[in-house]
Amino acid sequence: MHWIKWPLILNDKDKGGLGVGSLDAFNLGLLYKWKWRFFNEPSVLWVQLIKSLYGDGGSFHEVRSSNGCGVWSKIVGSINRLHDQHVVAASTMSRVLGDGQFISFWNDVWCGTDSLKSLGVPLASASSGGLESAQYDALMDLLQPITLTSSPDRWRWSLDPYGCFSVKSVRSWIDASRLPEEDHPTRWNSCVPLKVNVHCWRAMLDRLPCRFNLAARGLPLESILCPICLTSQETLSHLLFICPTAVQVWQQVARWIQCQVPDFASMSDLVEWVDSLSVVGQKRSIVDSIFMVVIWVLWTYRNAVVFKRLDYRKQDIFDNIREFSFVWFYARNNKINMSRLLASRFVHLVRSSVLKTGSNRLVGPVEPGTGDESGLINAGSMLISEPE
Ligand SMILES: [Zn+2]
Repeated sequence: MHWIKWPLILNDKDKGGLGVGSLDAFNLGLLYKWKWRFFNEPSVLWVQLIKSLYGDGGSFHEVRSSNGCGVWSKIVGSINRLHDQHVVAASTMSRVLGDGQFISFWNDVWCGTDSLKSLGVPLASASSGGLESAQYDALMDLLQPITLTSSPDRWRWSLDPYGCFSVKSVRSWIDASRLPEEDHPTRWNSCVPLKVNVHCWRAMLDRLPCRFNLAARGLPLESILCPICLTSQETLSHLLFICPTAVQVWQQVARWIQCQVPDFASMSDLVEWVDSLSVVGQKRSIVDSIFMVVIWVLWTYRNAVVFKRLDYRKQDIFDNIREFSFVWFYARNNKINMSRLLASRFVHLVRSSVLKTGSNRLVGPVEPGTGDESGLINAGSMLISEPE
């Protein structure tokens, strides 16, 4: 069963995908690299061989190369097709004028966004008069501000801020022009495992196999009631936010981080609220990761109920949230000293960050070493006691 369109999975994370990238665009990026190397490494043996067979320009400026046979002709043809179809502009790879020794005056893109040849500027003298004279004057105006320097000519790749070519930049550019994109970028948090990030991404898109979604895709089910409370349809929003068990878990989390967490009705509500917290940096990552862990653990508990895993009890949900939050954070931040982390009590990091926001207030005073904190400290202590 397909849950998410493959093109969306391929797209970059900042466009709502998973950043897998398409093989076709990757291949075109690798082909384009031959052009970059051809013009940037003029003294290497294979470039000299190509030049002796196809001329100094490697036949990149010739239309007939698109239909030629042979490996090099096919490489040139693929690159020229990208230009002709306006997928990658020819001016993306442009000359930066230095001493002018290696720049082709008519063929190379070195002045403006197109070659002078493609602009159709005739090489005419001012004495010709009429239209040609006007074009000659326009050419002189174009060249007027340009001066030669002592440094050699070089190439610039405009898809990179430093002007350096990369296959990745070609792949991303081509994918961006071909693949669909979501309204929001993918939320990605390095404090939790890949599986949790992908899980939350699917939850945001409402593409998890809860009973309601399975039935909507034509799967015959005996019931689409929530397997936990057996009173409402098992939509994703019900399972994660409205089901009494979920509500109870969110209340426990709110008490744990000592913050008044509002009632959520959907993933969008949760994301909107988290985004409204004015926290940044590592504290931001911790706050984000805890809520992602809640989404993950609620789903794993649901699966335990559906598949009759009797060893996973309801009272384990909150313990797992605290333990996974801590263990995953520590595992991905191994430069942090464990004793310092425990001294800061981890949850204080969250609490102090959430308290800085004006929209949320402290629920009540916290007694050190009491209440829900102790479970977290135990989780950390358990880690310390493990043999190295
Ligand atoms: Zn329910």
